[in-house]
Amino acid sequence: TAPAELGNDHGYGPDIDHVLLSEEQIQAKIAELADQVAGDYAEREVLLVGVLKGAVLFMSDFARALRLPTQMEFMAVSSYGSATSSSGVVRILKDLDRDISDKHVLVIEDIIDSGLTLSWLLKNLGGRRPASLEVCALLRKPDAVKVDVPVRYVGFDIPNEFVVGYGLDYAERYRDLPYIATLKPEVYSS
Ligand code: 5GP
Ligand code: MG
Ligand code: MG
Repeated sequence: TAPAELGNDHGYGPDIDHVLLSEEQIQAKIAELADQVAGDYAEREVLLVGVLKGAVLFMSDFARALRLPTQMEFMAVSSYGSATSSSGVVRILKDLDRDISDKHVLVIEDIIDSGLTLSWLLKNLGGRRPASLEVCALLRKPDAVKVDVPVRYVGFDIPNEFVVGYGLDYAERYRDLPYIATLKPEVYSS
């Protein structure tokens, strides 16, 4: 654990095993991604579609780093499965508030693990005839390569560990951490 994170644990300190990505690393990567996206979308107005709830912190920091006129929509989906893995069977909990036809849609995702959620989502959104449809994910796990989902922008490729923080939860906790960390094994067994 980097010393900078120690005073910054939101009271979760005892549960945290190790910090995988510090707040500084995340923010530097977001600046990089935003530069890349800003270059690619220079003449186009981007519609960011954030996938609730995990992408909320990323969306918020990314939209500010982008420095382009962007619009925001949110969608909430639930994939049936256990607390730590998904099945690919997806249900819409909250749909977009408006039509995205002819819009340049950039889906903002927290993490791609099996890729099943995203694969379903892209099919669903693609059917609404956007002008373009791309994905920007902060994190990607190794299994994601098994499903062929086109992800234009990726922040970090991480090992196959369950992570929390910066939007990502375990049982709805830890989303508010400004960094990405793993939890001690005893947290899962209690
Ligand atoms: P996929 O369909 O790609 O397997 O799953 C994507 C979703 O599973 C993510 O949006 C997230 O909600 C959840 N997920 C996958 N890996 C992790 C992880 O390491 N930590 C947390 N907190 N959620 C994860
Ligand atoms: Mg997600
Ligand atoms: Mg979750």
